[in-house]
Amino acid sequence: METSRPTKLQFAVQMTGENCGDGVRAALEGQPGVQSVSVDVGKQEVLLESALSTADVLALIESTGRKAVLKGIGGGGGSEPDLGAAVAVMSGPAGGRGVVRGAVRFVQLSTGRCLVDGTIDGLEPGTHGLHVHALGDLTRDCLSCGGHYDPFGRQHGGPGDPERHVGDLGNIVAGPDGRATFRLEDSQIKVWDVIGRSLVVDAGEDDLGRGGHPLSKQTGNSGAGLACGIIARSAGLFQNPKQVCACDGRTLWER
Ligand code: ZN
Repeated sequence: METSRPTKLQFAVQMTGENCGDGVRAALEGQPGVQSVSVDVGKQEVLLESALSTADVLALIESTGRKAVLKGIGGGGGSEPDLGAAVAVMSGPAGGRGVVRGAVRFVQLSTGRCLVDGTIDGLEPGTHGLHVHALGDLTRDCLSCGGHYDPFGRQHGGPGDPERHVGDLGNIVAGPDGRATFRLEDSQIKVWDVIGRSLVVDAGEDDLGRGGHPLSKQTGNSGAGLACGIIARSAGLFQNPKQVCACDGRTLWER
C-alpha cells in the first residue's frame, strides 16, 4: 500500500461544555499523525488533519468517553474541491467466526488520488484480497458481483502494477481480533467510475498475479467473497449537516 498523505476529517462529537471540548482536544493534540485540531463545542464538531485511518482517529476521540461519528473526509491542506465520495457498507453471510461486516469509504482527493479508508470486522486473522467488482448486484450475495472491475481488458495484478484490473486494491490484513483497519491511496480507482459497482473482501490472500496458479492472472486466487457491498455516493466534507443525536449517538451512518 502506498503511504497516504493527511486528509481533513470532520467528526460530529457529543460535547456538553468547554471542559468536554478541552478533553477531546487534549486526546488528539500531539498524537503522531494528527494535526490542525479544531474543536467547536457549539456545533458539536471536531475538524482535524490526519494520515491515520478514520477508525484510529475515532478511537482517540472516543477514548474520552464521548460518542463520535465521522461526517466527512476531504483533501488535506489545499483548496482542491472534493471530487466525490462514496461508501460501501459490507456484509456477508454468517459462518466461521461470525458475520463479516464493515464500512469502506472512497474519497476522490484529486483526479489521480482516491483515498480508500475502511474497517471490516469478523474476518479470519490474516491477509484478504480486496477488489472492486464490475456489478452492483447482490442478488446472490458476492456471487453476482461479476469479475474484478476491468474496463481496459487487462490481466489481474497488484495495486502498484501498471498491468492490473482497475478494481485491484490488493490485500488488507485482519488482526487477531478479526478486524482489518486500512487506509490506502489508489491512482486508478475513480469514485465516479466505481459508484454503483461493488466492493468484495475475499477469504484468502490475493497473490497479485504472481502466484503461478491458473487463477493468478485472473483473480489473484484469493478465494470466495466473504462480504460485499454496493458502492454508493455519499456526502463529502461539510456536506452533511446532521449532528449526533443525544439519544444514541449514532444518527449518521455507522462506521
Ligand atoms: Zn483483478
